[in-house]
Amino acid sequence: MTRVLVVEDDAQLARALVINLKARTYEVDAAPDGTSALRLAAAGPPDAIVLDLGLPDMDGIDLIRALRDRLRAPVLVLSARSGSEDKIRALDAGADDYMTKPFSMDELLARLRAATRRMEESPGRDRPSAETPSAVVVTDGFTVDLLAKKVRRGDRDVRLTPTEWHLLEILICNPGRLISQRRLLEEVWGPTYGSKTNYLRVYMAQLRRKLEADPSHPRHLITEPGMGYRFES
Ligand code: CA
Repeated sequence: MTRVLVVEDDAQLARALVINLKARTYEVDAAPDGTSALRLAAAGPPDAIVLDLGLPDMDGIDLIRALRDRLRAPVLVLSARSGSEDKIRALDAGADDYMTKPFSMDELLARLRAATRRMEESPGRDRPSAETPSAVVVTDGFTVDLLAKKVRRGDRDVRLTPTEWHLLEILICNPGRLISQRRLLEEVWGPTYGSKTNYLRVYMAQLRRKLEADPSHPRHLITEPGMGYRFES
């Protein structure tokens, strides 16, 4: 059974979340503040966390960091704040996804399913090294072999530069997950490049030209404006 920790101080919303999750046979713990969340997470590690950023006793971002230090469970952030700055901070702190209130319960459940599935399937993330990850990612347009570092489109190999490959690899190892611009820039170019978003635009455009059937309407390398990028298979 999948265990979900709901961290939400709005009692009405917390109750709605608990009822809906239990109805889908999730096991649910609910915490009205950060301190209880940390206590519950320590007592029984959750498989996924749904977390409100605005909590009475601590900054939600700090709570994400504290949970991230202890757990690998995906964190889905809920926030009344719709500014992209908050979203980016949450993603950089280790959140996996972000929803702005008000949100539809169906969408939340869908994203939660996707996040827990990614956790089980993801070839790159937090895997014990003894396990052999499924290293070939297949989309309807192209195929990526992560171990051989090869990309094929139709019946031909696609040549990528090392920078293009590195970007693609991070996105593909986190299918469906929104990766912040800063994280991509720091991982691919280095820690001092976190704000060079123009680099990303240029390289993502190149990747799309090489991989997408219609680069101006990408289906696999998706932009989340102002925030980051997402690979959808
Ligand atoms: Ca709140």
